[in-house]
Amino acid sequence: MKAALVDFHCHLDLFPDLASAISAAETAGIYTLTVTTTPRAWPRNYDLTRKTKYIRAALGLHPQLVAERSAEIKLWEEYLPHARYVGEVGIDAGPQYYRSVDLQKEIFATILRKCAETGGKVLTVHSVRAATAVLDLIESHLPRHRGQVVLHWFTGSKSEARRAADLGCYFSVNAAMMRNERGCGLVAALPSDRLLTETDAPFTRADNRSTSPSDVKATVEALAALRRETPENMAHMISSNLRAVLGDAGAPLDD
Ligand code: MN
Repeated sequence: MKAALVDFHCHLDLFPDLASAISAAETAGIYTLTVTTTPRAWPRNYDLTRKTKYIRAALGLHPQLVAERSAEIKLWEEYLPHARYVGEVGIDAGPQYYRSVDLQKEIFATILRKCAETGGKVLTVHSVRAATAVLDLIESHLPRHRGQVVLHWFTGSKSEARRAADLGCYFSVNAAMMRNERGCGLVAALPSDRLLTETDAPFTRADNRSTSPSDVKATVEALAALRRETPENMAHMISSNLRAVLGDAGAPLDD
């Protein structure tokens, strides 16, 4: 049996047509986690994906939007009991968002605490220039048995990656992370049993066009080459890691 592909972080609601992006991923049989950047977007994403076999929607409040939309944390909290997947959430301490970093930390801490309270959530987390701050908050507010964290497009140091793995985190890796030497070094050092794949579509590019979930195939191949595995073994590893993240032996995205 061929292992199914996994895109554990993309933004199908930023494609020209959400419904057709969902049906393309469903037809391709790619296990896809589509994230939202504001809780206002979640109900429609949830409705359009809940009956699919392969696609699930995550309830997010993107750190880059926190400066203008922190009040939407109330709406996020209201939807949380209905959501198994949470994201995009986290901290962005890049130059454009640095001014809101204290507020972002407050919101992210609230999100982690609420997830810990309810239990059983799977989070996809942004940590641009903020790996240590993100890990500090996870360590303080989300005990390992109360939720599962996947670090999306992780660009921290190798020692931060080790700390993240010790805290129980997974890593969703995209092709752009393997386009420079530092990124390759980091990705090569991640533990095999913590790897997932993602596209962050439509924000990444492949062959001079914006990506879609089916581009994870090339990511699996690049990851396999970097880690000296066959693409088949790599795909199996990722699919079994997905099962481990979701904590069940059944259909990977069942909720
Ligand atoms: Mn994203």
